[in-house]
Amino acid sequence: MTSAGAAVIGAGPNGLAAAVTLARAGVPVTVYEAAETIGGGARTQHLVRPGVLHDVCSAIHPMALATGFFRAFELERRMGFVVPEASYANPLDGAAGGGDGRAAVAYRDLQRTAAELGRDGTAYSRLYRPLLRRLEGVVDFALGGSMLRWPSDLPAAILTGLRTLEQGTPLWNARFREQAAPALLSGVAAHSIGRMPGLASAGVGLVLGALGHASGWPVPVGGSRAITDALAADLLAHGGRIETGHPVSDVRELSGFRVKLFDTSARGLMRIAGSALPGRYRRALGRFRYGDGAAKVDFVLDGPIPWRDHRVAEAPTVHLGGTRAEVAATELEVSRGRHPQHPYVLLAQAAAFDPARAPVREGDLELTPVWSYTHVPSGSTVDMAQPVIDQIERFAPGFRDRILDVRVITAAEFAGYNRNYVGGDFTAGAVTPWQLLSRPVISTEPWRTPAAGIYLCSSSTAPGPGVHGLSGWYAARSALKHEYGLPDPELGLDA
Ligand SMILES: Cc1cc2nc3c(=O)[nH]c(=O)nc-3n(C[C@H](O)[C@H](O)[C@H](O)COP(=O)(O)OP(=O)(O)OC[C@H]3O[C@@H](n4cnc5c(N)ncnc54)[C@H](O)[C@@H]3O)c2cc1C
Repeated sequence: MTSAGAAVIGAGPNGLAAAVTLARAGVPVTVYEAAETIGGGARTQHLVRPGVLHDVCSAIHPMALATGFFRAFELERRMGFVVPEASYANPLDGAAGGGDGRAAVAYRDLQRTAAELGRDGTAYSRLYRPLLRRLEGVVDFALGGSMLRWPSDLPAAILTGLRTLEQGTPLWNARFREQAAPALLSGVAAHSIGRMPGLASAGVGLVLGALGHASGWPVPVGGSRAITDALAADLLAHGGRIETGHPVSDVRELSGFRVKLFDTSARGLMRIAGSALPGRYRRALGRFRYGDGAAKVDFVLDGPIPWRDHRVAEAPTVHLGGTRAEVAATELEVSRGRHPQHPYVLLAQAAAFDPARAPVREGDLELTPVWSYTHVPSGSTVDMAQPVIDQIERFAPGFRDRILDVRVITAAEFAGYNRNYVGGDFTAGAVTPWQLLSRPVISTEPWRTPAAGIYLCSSSTAPGPGVHGLSGWYAARSALKHEYGLPDPELGLDA
């Protein structure tokens, strides 16, 4: 055991990943979480109606089986996942939907996906196949640490870079002749909020899409909280402590700890530890920009969503925005501070896949949870229920009649729910090409601040947002090396 322990501020997936890594190396760890429950952006609750489980924030987990930390942690052996054959779907209408409202569907099987994409099937397949052949290298390039390091697989990095240049610029339609394939690509690229085409959203979309055609987009049994519960269980089993309902407002409260890791936004780090940080670094944090926000609209339905194209029911995740041009137009509106009438909606229908969240019978009703959110300008207080309902109804006539309950969380309310979500920006810092290189500062080790023993371990640092635990893992390994002189610990179940 080392003598001086570490404090982790925040029990989101990254904070818990950092804490597990330190505890596994023998460092005594205490996690302080402001909220009454752990989990940060990976909590699952009876949010809309008692007895019906909804994910409060994250619901879609392309990175749960395929990225470094969760693989090392053997997450798949610690909890249940259902991996459907279809990863995501993008309903279409009018001419884009072949006149009969056909959807584009991304299956794990690339060939099947391409076969259903009409004349663009081959072009779509040629976009992804080289990435899939070098998937390890692609994932490592995008998520393997600071973007400033030399890639472990140079050809994979070049392939990813060239495809990002194509899909992130006005060239993005060059290889396509119809609407379905571009819509499928834009639907997934829009997970990253921002104007399209854009390099950051294209890169995000290509990597998430490649995972969808490889390990799939797994649905966690019991919801997102099962992931953070698994992390917390391992932490406690290795001597770590978690104190919930304990906000940290000044780093001096933690003077008894040799090392402090902040699972806070970059702004939170500045607020809490600014007195300990050099002026130059503080000014760099001050230049870190936040993006637009998310507004949630969750439903309890009486029965499944009546999709016009029944294949949409096979996909746990649905991107509702229509064609590529429509999604680009709505994202542009948001970036100009407006609320789109026909917004891009991300929808998850886990009830059909997860036995722990299967529809609940109540009398004659079949209570079915549906999770969705849409993009809105930063700090928005607008209730987006009506535009979201209209957008779903467009592709699922009769949806409206199945609604039993609706619960809205505005972007401004998200900012109050989790202080990392500045203005409702759940990415804890805009995802732009520049902020992928400098997250939150230009460095090959961006988790480490210039102040002794102070680290940033949230999605405000590399590799960025999402439930992957990677920022926490990298920060903790950096702290083990520099503060304790310890090697990376084994994280597996049998270690
Ligand atoms: C609506 C919505 C939908 C999303 N959908 C997805 C999705 O489908 N898939 C996906 O991968 N990601 C999704 N995300 C993003 C994902 O939730 C985050 O990227 C992820 O949770 C980041 O993890 P983190 O540990 O860095 O921070 P967080 O999960 O935000 O955790 C930070 C924790 O630190 C605590 N904290 C902050 N300040 C203090 C303090 N001063 N003292 C003590 N505690 C503090 C907070 O209360 C919080 O619990 C979504 C987010 C939202 C809001």
